[in-house]
Amino acid sequence: MKKSVVLYKKLSAPLMARLHEHADVTLIDALDEAGLAKLRDALPGAHGLLGASLRLDAELLDLAPKLEAVASVSVGVDNYDIDYLTRRRILLSNTPDVLTETTADTGFALILATARRVVELADMVRAGQWHKNIGPAHFGSDVHGKTLGIIGMGRIGEALAQRGHFGFGMPVIYHSHSPKPEVDARFGAQYRSLDDLLQQADFVCLTLPLTAETEKLIGAREFALMGPETIFINISRGKVVDEAALVDALQQRTIRAAGLDVFEREPLEHGSPLLRLNNVVATPHIGSATHETREAMARCAVDNLLAALGGERPLNLVNPGAYVG
Ligand code: NAP
Repeated sequence: MKKSVVLYKKLSAPLMARLHEHADVTLIDALDEAGLAKLRDALPGAHGLLGASLRLDAELLDLAPKLEAVASVSVGVDNYDIDYLTRRRILLSNTPDVLTETTADTGFALILATARRVVELADMVRAGQWHKNIGPAHFGSDVHGKTLGIIGMGRIGEALAQRGHFGFGMPVIYHSHSPKPEVDARFGAQYRSLDDLLQQADFVCLTLPLTAETEKLIGAREFALMGPETIFINISRGKVVDEAALVDALQQRTIRAAGLDVFEREPLEHGSPLLRLNNVVATPHIGSATHETREAMARCAVDNLLAALGGERPLNLVNPGAYVG
């Protein structure tokens, strides 16, 4: 008998066909009120779940007594209670690697957009306000040769370091739990304490996961360590930053600018003070959002889910403690 899978993310036709071959599929079209009600109705029969951008907590998952596997279409797993899933021996998988390069591209897009004031000045042209050659009031700052500071030297951090080192001749400094000699060797990178990095980097880029340890890692004290020319880039998770402290630093111009793909609350409210600042470039959580990468992530999640439901260990298992081989 086929197992039951609940999707709360639409998949391409080929991936849907593949899932249908192996499972009975219920699709939740949207995570609005009606969609969430449909999800609750489907959970009691579900063996597998696949989707992203939904907090799956114990209250919801207690409705799914048959659940064997959750396949997240993301690398970040901050939406899941991993201890709870492990206790219930529910296999959680994610989609690392396939989104690394694209997310690093997004990071570099924000680096260039903030330093060269691309969005602000493009808006000026579009608004018909380009009347004469621009002068120093509209100049940006260089990216090449500046110091790239990376907090969280994992897959995406390394891909950012690669771009900075080879593409832009940037000295790379980084902070992680521990130094990484292979990264130092490849990119001429140097390990720093968090405080030293904040004081020395021209670009401070966040590429670490949201965990209990990293929540609000960057707040008023940390922004005060940065200099007035520092540009702050966040492509990790919004909650790693104390957003009120960030707004303050930007308003007071104690840092120069911020490029933000992620926010404390998403979607970012139109009334957010961040959107009143012309030294902010805000994008709607587009880190991995290209056609190619989103399809690769979905394919990876389907592979993980089908492996788990077939009794195999999924390639990208997040909670090995839940697997009884
Ligand atoms: P990864 O390979 O696991 O790298 C994360 C790095 O963060 C690790 O190297 C780890 O250092 C470091 N780290 C963790 N906690 C830390 C702490 N308290 N202090 C210092 N460093 C710490 O993950 P990844 O694939 O690069 O992805 C990173 C994150 O990016 C994801 O978790 C996700 O939240 C975010 N992301 C966002 C988007 C987007 O759309 N904007 C897209 C993809 C991913 P050690 O190795 O020393 O332990």
